Amino acid sequence: MTRPPAVVVVGAGPAGLFAAERLAAAGAAVTVYDRMPSPARKLLLAGRGGLNLTHSEPREAFRARYEALPPHLSAALDAFPPAALRAWAAGLGEPTFVGTSGRVFPEAFKASPLVRAWLARLAGLGVRLVMRHRLVGIAADGALTFEAPEGRVDVSCDAALLALGGASWPRMGSDGGWTTLLEAEGVALAALRPSNMGVELGWTADFARRFAGQPLKSVAIRIAGRSARGEAMITAQGLEGGAIYALSAAIRESLATQGSARLCLDLKPDLDGAAIARRLAGARPKDSLSAVLRKTLSLGAQQVALLREAAGGPLPRAPVALAALIKDVVLPVTGVRPLDRAISTAGGVRFDALGEGFELACLPGIFVAGEMLDWEAPTGGYLLQATFATAAAAAAAMATRLGLPPPVPEVGTW
Ligand SMILES: Cc1cc2nc3c(=O)[nH]c(=O)nc-3n(C[C@H](O)[C@H](O)[C@H](O)COP(=O)(O)OP(=O)(O)OC[C@H]3O[C@@H](n4cnc5c(N)ncnc54)[C@H](O)[C@@H]3O)c2cc1C
Repeated sequence: MTRPPAVVVVGAGPAGLFAAERLAAAGAAVTVYDRMPSPARKLLLAGRGGLNLTHSEPREAFRARYEALPPHLSAALDAFPPAALRAWAAGLGEPTFVGTSGRVFPEAFKASPLVRAWLARLAGLGVRLVMRHRLVGIAADGALTFEAPEGRVDVSCDAALLALGGASWPRMGSDGGWTTLLEAEGVALAALRPSNMGVELGWTADFARRFAGQPLKSVAIRIAGRSARGEAMITAQGLEGGAIYALSAAIRESLATQGSARLCLDLKPDLDGAAIARRLAGARPKDSLSAVLRKTLSLGAQQVALLREAAGGPLPRAPVALAALIKDVVLPVTGVRPLDRAISTAGGVRFDALGEGFELACLPGIFVAGEMLDWEAPTGGYLLQATFATAAAAAAAMATRLGLPPPVPEVGTW
């Protein structure tokens, strides 16, 4: 009797666990190693925000969210689209729903029930989870060395998947330490950079003290020909939130190439300047400016203070000038929040380091999936969708390499 092929997955995040599930279902003997004491810590953290699994928008709009969508990722998303991810979650007893913004969440609105059911399924498939094992070495023949509580452990296998994540929130396990390992083996990497990160705006101390934690709802933000609409949250350092995150790449790029960046906020994106000026002109002359802005345009104390912060002094009273300021609040960016505070990581293993499938060209038999690959997307479910899709594609390529039966076609199309 021939033994089943032995597969090692390093990284028990969603990418590693999903590939492990696919490969074990196809007949491989799968062992998952992770440096942390328990699996899927970042996925569980994501669950605190409701676990935005994916997004319901049509294919073209969805794919346009990825920065310069790399061909490997494009093919992986087509092979494993949002409907397939939703069907998988439903299969684990966690049906999904579409929120008002088009984002997709599990009905439980958290990750823990899904993770519990998933781990039970993996155990049923014979997947072995080995925790507190940190990958510290990759030999040319593909053997892996781990640092474990009992000392160094060498492991060989028929194929391995690295699913080591990015370097944001390192307390959850993914600390980007793998970059040194892969660089030493000649794997081409793009520098890890913060993505979906807050920006620093050099607020005055008084503004930061009074308004940190207050939202700016329904704003439009522009930078370098790109724009995003949504909510931004005032922080002690600057701004964070969906509308800022969507502009991560443009902000980083502007800072890197020009040494500076300027955000232009439109506090009333649904009204043009003339309509705003008309409303302002109709205000009671005796009202204070704050009262005028509140009564005619529903601008709260934080928006009014933001206008003063940007103007650097008293606000113009003339309706046309004030309307122009409301439509174009210019905020110079002094920096971005560091990688360890970001939601996700840009950069990582470059797609041109991969050969066929998701296999490293210079380390045959070693495949890569998830956030450690060099793709970038905003929040909205695009991060987990790409994580699962690349894991599905890597698992399919590994199954082919190991002579295992091809995976069953995915349930659901775009
Ligand atoms: C606060 C927060 C909220 C988020 N919310 C969402 C959301 O709602 N929707 C969404 O789409 N995305 C969200 N994300 C992003 C999403 O969680 C990640 O994109 C996703 O977890 C990436 O999966 P992964 O498997 O590639 O990596 P990870 O989940 O980071 O898993 C990598 C694993 O590898 C292990 N590891 C790393 N190095 C080693 C080593 N040397 N040896 C052994 N093990 C190692 C780590 O311990 C970890 O368990 C959120 C992220 C954060 C921080």
